[in-house]
Amino acid sequence: MKDTNAPDSGNHSARTDFDAVVVGAGFGGLYMVYKLRELGYSARLYELGSDVGGTWYWNRYPGARCDAPSLQYSYQFSEDLQQDWEWSETYASQAEILRYLNHVTDRFELRPMMRFDTTVTSAIYDEQHLIWTIGTDQGDRVRARFCIMATGCLSVRTTPNFPGLNDFGGEWYHTNAWPHEGVDFRGKIVGVVGTGSTGIQSIPVIAETAAHLKVFQRTAQFSTPARNGPMDKVYEARIKADYAGFRARNYRQPVAMDIVIDRSAPKTFEVSEAERMATYERCWETGGLSFSTAYRDSSLSRAANDDISDFIRAKIGEIVVDADTARLLQPEHIYACKRPCLDTNYFETYNRPNVTLVDVSQTGVEAITKSGIVANGVEHELDCIVFATGFDAFTGSLNRIDIRGRNKLALKDKWSAGPRTYLGLSSAAFPNLFTITGPGSPSVLANMVVGIEQHVNWIGECLDYMRTRGYATVEATVQAEDDWVEQVRTAADRTLFTACDNWYMGANVPGKPRGFVPYVDWPRYVKICEAAVDDAYAGFDFT
Ligand code: NAP
Repeated sequence: MKDTNAPDSGNHSARTDFDAVVVGAGFGGLYMVYKLRELGYSARLYELGSDVGGTWYWNRYPGARCDAPSLQYSYQFSEDLQQDWEWSETYASQAEILRYLNHVTDRFELRPMMRFDTTVTSAIYDEQHLIWTIGTDQGDRVRARFCIMATGCLSVRTTPNFPGLNDFGGEWYHTNAWPHEGVDFRGKIVGVVGTGSTGIQSIPVIAETAAHLKVFQRTAQFSTPARNGPMDKVYEARIKADYAGFRARNYRQPVAMDIVIDRSAPKTFEVSEAERMATYERCWETGGLSFSTAYRDSSLSRAANDDISDFIRAKIGEIVVDADTARLLQPEHIYACKRPCLDTNYFETYNRPNVTLVDVSQTGVEAITKSGIVANGVEHELDCIVFATGFDAFTGSLNRIDIRGRNKLALKDKWSAGPRTYLGLSSAAFPNLFTITGPGSPSVLANMVVGIEQHVNWIGECLDYMRTRGYATVEATVQAEDDWVEQVRTAADRTLFTACDNWYMGANVPGKPRGFVPYVDWPRYVKICEAAVDDAYAGFDFT
């Protein structure tokens, strides 16, 4: 094992500075460097932010919080950690998750392995010496056997190329690059562009202080109440009494959380309308993602989903007082085809006298002027604009690094028609390069932290396997990769995710190749990964 803090200074061309370089200090990168150190490997982590946190470092917008319950959206690799840490709310705020990640970093003394304010610009594979050279904007050029990308699925923000943005005389912000000192909206006329999960979380909070808030909505979204609140201490104690058992049960569930589909339960239309309405009412009151398991076929059948969608549309109609505004807020697509949003008082916010909904479904935001936004030919004067316009998901953070594998093949060229990986972990022609929750793995379709831990554990085991057998490189085979790309596509086609445009398929980024990126079936995915290991890493070549 090498000293993790001191790269060796030897000039021998085949020598490495570290066993592994890890890119990104979010949930994935932190656990990866912990795991590498546990296994006796030296590691250097680069992070472009000034501190740890990844998603939770950047997304500091008002109202930012997690949609997965705190007791599940957290690490399980350390029993002491999960017993000691106390979450204050059912769904943790961004600030609390960031405190947690800082605690993890300090508790396990990970910081010495990290370099912040450093953007990795290139990762070039040297076929002769079987090493990666990682270059950064700070001038680093470090050599490592393994290069592990923990760059996240939603890390590259998109601010559409609005004509005139540079002329805007007020302040503008993207929710993903929120000022650390916060933004004071008091006395200001604020415009929010974007009504996905981020917009839906931030709009009610911004409305509380802004003089006036105008929401520019292109597509109405389904959202249901999160029902967040202070942590139920009795429930927490019950979970902590057998945390490992709770985690183990959730691990095999559809989204790696305590959301269980009862296979013996009826299908939607096997029960009366009155019974269905009572069930949906319970889901609405329970909050969270309960609609997805209302009935056995809720997430899979179009007709079942229409039923849920109609119920939620009716709820929006009941909540929003102004009939025209209510109608504009009622989505036309079905509930299960876009990522469901959870909120606190989102639809209620439109009843406030200081909030106006501006429908831009026909023309989009046409232009930005010195004084505001032009939509439907009307100029809306604004002091401040908030863009909650989303991300270049999955591939954005990888494609902006010049990653070159064998024969100097650029990853972004290989992926020009869409990402190609085996299991979202490895791509043929890129030996010893791993992607944590990479394209083709369940990632955002399951509990992200569980997916991250599963990948890091898998990578750790693979490294161990190689060390035991004296292998120098590992790489997905072309055949395994081709088969897997096909499996990812066919699995998505069996769901309702492909029933409308969404960022899972790259539809939100102009010019991006269309194709459903994540693998939809977490329990099956876990079994496939386990089977590959049991079968001497079938689908991977070792040298
Ligand atoms: P998003 O879901 O992609 O939403 C972007 C919004 O911006 C959409 O309403 C989109 O409208 C709008 N938009 C984009 N370009 C526009 C344009 N040129 N003119 C007008 N409107 C435009 O992005 P997000 O809300 O940041 O969420 C992304 C994902 O991050 C979520 O789905 C979720 O997975 C994750 N997230 C999680 C949490 C959480 O756990 N609590 C919170 C926030 C985000 P269209 O729909 O018409 O394209």
